[in-house]
Amino acid sequence: MRKRRITKALNVGDVKVGGDAPVTVQSMTKTDTRDVKATVEQIKGLEEAGCEIIRCAVPDMEAAKALAEIKRQTRIPLIADIHFHHQLALQALKSGVDCLRLNPGNIRDRAKVEEVVLEAKARQVPIRIGVNFGSLPPVGGIGITRGLSRHTDGVNALPKAGDAAEGEYSVVDHMVETGLWEIGILESLDFDLIKISLKAFDIDTTVEAYRRLADMVPYPFHLGITEAGTAKSGSIRSAIGLGMLLYDGIGDTIRVSLSDDPREEVYTGLEILKGLELRKDSPVLVACPSCGRADVDIRQLANDVDGMLRKIKSPIKVAVMGCEVNGPGEAKDADVGIAAGAGRAIIFRKGKKSRIVAEADMLTALMEEVRLVEAELEA
Ligand code: SF4
Repeated sequence: MRKRRITKALNVGDVKVGGDAPVTVQSMTKTDTRDVKATVEQIKGLEEAGCEIIRCAVPDMEAAKALAEIKRQTRIPLIADIHFHHQLALQALKSGVDCLRLNPGNIRDRAKVEEVVLEAKARQVPIRIGVNFGSLPPVGGIGITRGLSRHTDGVNALPKAGDAAEGEYSVVDHMVETGLWEIGILESLDFDLIKISLKAFDIDTTVEAYRRLADMVPYPFHLGITEAGTAKSGSIRSAIGLGMLLYDGIGDTIRVSLSDDPREEVYTGLEILKGLELRKDSPVLVACPSCGRADVDIRQLANDVDGMLRKIKSPIKVAVMGCEVNGPGEAKDADVGIAAGAGRAIIFRKGKKSRIVAEADMLTALMEEVRLVEAELEA
């Protein structure tokens, strides 16, 4: 893995993003932001799942005002997701949000962006410049308020990454140029609490856009593959795209976008980071896929253990193995491991045989051992 790109650190509330801070996982609520109770409840569930920063949609003034109460009732930093109307950003700042996301594709009036930046600067609130393929400005219309409609703006006719001929203006160019336009405004006002995202559904385009901008600016990146899909396809697509960038040392905070319960976004994000060993502060599950040799229902056991480990916040490696082929080796290598056999299983703790249990007691016994290791780590 390449060395991490050096970025200018900033704080979103009390969470550091960029610099040498660990890559953080964020998500977005799927409730109506005006429904404070439902939104607060969802944020608390996401925090429990490991979400470190949350973003809420701000479709209107009522939502922008509701952010104040949401902020009062929650702990993790709150980002206001702003499109079209800069007044919503100004109200979100008054509501006390910890960061703004502005879309340079649909707030293109320089004066309005400046008004927001000055207010954010006075409050020392960072701004994410969120470029998204689905809402890019018209081709030739970056920073121009009147233009073609999205249906005739020329964006979809631009060649994607890899399809562009030498010197041909591509979607990647348009995404990067759009980001640079807004970065220029913020910098001209001596504002450097900047985070950037350049998201597309197309992995090649997204990766290329981030790589290109990484060499041009010092600001931290929020990574994401936009509209990635359902839990399964979207997680895979996100893991590929985000994985390529993170492996390159690019990325400071991530959001996995899934058409599912937002907690799935958090679990997937954490798994991506754990897989790359960018986060080592939570449990890792090693589980064999099971096969004709397995004597117990490993699939059920692995999924039960996975669910229970989500409540544990310590870096414990747990192995769930179906038989004596790879079982003892992996089980001994983990902090806690189980190697199943005919109707019973051997449990290992810290490489040593701890006990032999009946199949019916495997889950309980394994989790007891996990808690013992957790207690040792906390001691
Ligand atoms: S550990 Fe045993 S049960 Fe699991 S996949 Fe390997 S051979 Fe099959």
